[in-house]
Amino acid sequence: MERTYRPTWAEIDLGAVSHNLAEIRRVVASNVAIMPVVKANAYGHGIYRISAELITNGVKYLGVATVDEALFLRQKGIDVSILVLGSVLQEEADQAVDNNITLTLCNDSLFRALMISAKKFMKKPRVHIKIDTGMGRIGVWHADAFEFIKKVYDTGVIEIEGVYTHFSSASRDKMYTEMQIEYFENVLLALEKEKIGIKYKHADNSIASVEWKNTHYNLVRPGILIYGVYPKEDFREVLDLKPVMSLKTRIVHLKDTPTGRALSYGRTYITQKPTKIATLPIGYADGYGRLLSNRAEALVHGEQVRVVGIVTMDQTLIDVGEIVDVKIGDEVVLFGEQKGVKISVEKISKLAKTIPYEILSGIKERVPRIYI
Ligand SMILES: *Cc1c(COP(=O)(O)O)cnc(C)c1O
Repeated sequence: MERTYRPTWAEIDLGAVSHNLAEIRRVVASNVAIMPVVKANAYGHGIYRISAELITNGVKYLGVATVDEALFLRQKGIDVSILVLGSVLQEEADQAVDNNITLTLCNDSLFRALMISAKKFMKKPRVHIKIDTGMGRIGVWHADAFEFIKKVYDTGVIEIEGVYTHFSSASRDKMYTEMQIEYFENVLLALEKEKIGIKYKHADNSIASVEWKNTHYNLVRPGILIYGVYPKEDFREVLDLKPVMSLKTRIVHLKDTPTGRALSYGRTYITQKPTKIATLPIGYADGYGRLLSNRAEALVHGEQVRVVGIVTMDQTLIDVGEIVDVKIGDEVVLFGEQKGVKISVEKISKLAKTIPYEILSGIKERVPRIYI
């Protein structure tokens, strides 16, 4: 890794990735394939290193969001199967087919483009057909799905390797999810009846993989669990996950402040007693959001301290008045662990009024990733 000159970094624990994958394997049957989702730069963790680690641990299929993400992996020499989970435009078809990238197919426009690419490259484009059973995002509406699949199948030119759907409320609405399952399985039944054999059938993201074991079919698509984050608190009883990313920085400025000193833009924080204020070289342009102003906690010398004042673009303040012997250069953990004390990304995301997915995938490129 190149030497970087920035005392702010995201530490990525690759050992935790393989640990989390093994934990997921523990809750799915051995005939169920695991397709880890590495979209959005592997939820901010670094798509290449995470993918390589997963492959070392036996993963044979990766899920991404875009053709660009898949091409990046191909350029890096990754040769396992890759499914693009998003719907792509006609003009992306050639690149995907030429590079053996599996596409999600759910409309006629891409279907036509794939027919042309097939001819051009003398190759059978590989697709998974997405069925909309109630998510309402992409997919062929379930009532029209059989007809669409049959039409694609009958061409004989496109390999339908999978059919899949996605739940909108797996953790929130049992009845709605059951309805989605019924719609999906009706399509599967119709395919079976017509003897249209399809290798992979899948529906479950992380939450559904844990809560809906009857819909594992023969492949699951976990994302957030791979990164050691609990999408629901009660999953802690079922899975022992290790957080993969920690966000760390170091104190670059330190000052004694008297009572009544205003801190940062807008003077939202006024010191109530003499204390010490440390400046951290991280801000909202790194993905450490403004909503964390005056709310978040950080760790210094293994003790919790508070973020004070407004988080600015590149700098954030913490009150270190209670920390003995604190000095410039000391390490600060914004989420992660220090001396056995932890701040979870789940907690930070609550304070930032969002979900861990957005915090992790929102850590910007200018924050170097350090792999351990
Ligand atoms: C992102 C995504 C996943 C993974 O979701 P998690 O909640 O992170 O497990 C699975 N399937 C599809 C279609 C996705 O877009």
